[in-house]
Amino acid sequence: MIKSFEKKIDDLKFQIELGVTETIKSNINEDFNKSGLEDNKITNDYNDLSEIKTLEELKSFIKNYDKCELKNTARSTVFCDGNSESKIMLIGEAPGNQEDIEGKPFVGRSGKLLDKILDFINITRKNCYIINIIPWRPPGNRNPTTKEIKQCLPLVKKHIELVKPDILVLVGSIAAKSILDKDLGITKLRGEWHIYKDKKLEIPALPIFHPAYLLRRPTNKSLVMKDILLLNNKIQDNKS
Ligand code: URA
Repeated sequence: MIKSFEKKIDDLKFQIELGVTETIKSNINEDFNKSGLEDNKITNDYNDLSEIKTLEELKSFIKNYDKCELKNTARSTVFCDGNSESKIMLIGEAPGNQEDIEGKPFVGRSGKLLDKILDFINITRKNCYIINIIPWRPPGNRNPTTKEIKQCLPLVKKHIELVKPDILVLVGSIAAKSILDKDLGITKLRGEWHIYKDKKLEIPALPIFHPAYLLRRPTNKSLVMKDILLLNNKIQDNKS
């Protein structure tokens, strides 16, 4: 009981630290689990994205997609940042406040930390491509629900299919679980390569801690550095 109270205080401090200005009304985990109950009611309203052949077409499809309620509260549709020709694709969770304002992923405080981590192995926005599982900011920066993730996942898979990266970096638990379709936390998934499979694609995928989590638990930065070295080894292997 005391532990869960401390965790809530810790979470609130973290939200304030990240610049959250709105109250999160409901318990994040309850939202996540509750939405799981609605799973079998979920339809994506699009089963066939095969008509979409380019990133521009996908962008305009997502901008016009109005079945995900998050779109109604978000300012921007956050589609991507970086270089679509790059062979490294990073997938985060969902835009926060700053991303919603600027319309680009990972430009807020956690994005700055991500940039620093990537800079260690000379990755910049010029040589990687970044997207999120969810293109719209969830109100108050709450976690996206299972329903919202399921609605957006086919769009992410289409995005991967169009970019055809050689390497996927899954930033945080939600990206790792959804893309690998595994019910394991990030602590179990990180530290090794997995394979993302879809249609004819088989792409090595590396889950890493989310930078927002690292801001809260800086002692885990050494683990993310280990993962970044794994990433660097793979990039060097691919070059040779
Ligand atoms: N966190 C994410 O997962 N993505 C963003 O774009 C910003 C914060």
